[in-house]
Amino acid sequence: MRRAQERLSRAEAIRKEDGAKRGVKICWGKGQELTLGGGTVAVFAGPCAVESRSQLLETAYAVKEAGAVGLRGGAYKPRTSPHSFQGLGERGLELLAEARDKTGLLVVTEATSTEELPLVAACADVVQIGSRNMQNFALLRAAGACGKPVVLKRGMAATVEEWLMAAEYILAGGNDRVILCERGIRTFEPLTRNTLDLGAVALLPGLTRLPVMADPSHAAGRRDLVPPLARAALAAGAEGLLIEVHPRPSEALCDGAQSLGLKDFAALMAELKELAAAQGRTLAALPPALPKGGL
Ligand code: PEP
Ligand code: MN
Repeated sequence: MRRAQERLSRAEAIRKEDGAKRGVKICWGKGQELTLGGGTVAVFAGPCAVESRSQLLETAYAVKEAGAVGLRGGAYKPRTSPHSFQGLGERGLELLAEARDKTGLLVVTEATSTEELPLVAACADVVQIGSRNMQNFALLRAAGACGKPVVLKRGMAATVEEWLMAAEYILAGGNDRVILCERGIRTFEPLTRNTLDLGAVALLPGLTRLPVMADPSHAAGRRDLVPPLARAALAAGAEGLLIEVHPRPSEALCDGAQSLGLKDFAALMAELKELAAAQGRTLAALPPALPKGGL
């Protein structure tokens, strides 16, 4: 415990004295800007994977309407099986860029390797590093030089210290815009996909200046548990949420069981708005007068 504290005390992620450095600024589109960790709650929502133009645009318009500020969606998917859908790759990135242009939402998407990182970073407003890559040190170093904010998901078997040290690789590479995302850890409990570690969500603000978000979808593995876990994460102090949403979850090529349908997502957003208000916070909103467009 003491050794861990000594290691952590040298980490830049841990330094909190510089109040101005708290919060991660995200810039996108035509001069839009948001500080994650700046007092509001940012919700990024969308499909696990970009599957088609119509699927992505339908979801993007719906999550925007419901009050999300960001669109998530994987173009490159780190699937457990090589035989599962691996994502649309570059075409997926093009579709995400189109969805951003049409809706004004910022785009969060994952880079699974150093080779694809430059392409992903050129398109994404926030680059995601997934749970399976939390200790891919080459990718972390490259993310340190990618020029975009990074959402770093917690490895499914990583301690908080290992997670912070992974963030430290990105910071040490020159990128101080790192957002931590708790997405559930693997425990002995098989009835949920993972166990959402709300203790870590509550612990981190006292340890690090990096903002913390939560992903209730990958934690739950089943859609009925997403709303209660999302509410719990907010109550524990999460400054953002990453939520999987699909217009037809039963047809999703990836993670349909944990994806909310469009109506369920809108209902959850209404609840989160009230919960945030009860905490003296608001949900981060898109600025008005954004470009309009059709499918
Ligand atoms: C995802 O968000 O699409 C994803 C693959 O999540 P994780 O890395 O947390 O499994
Ligand atoms: Mn997923």
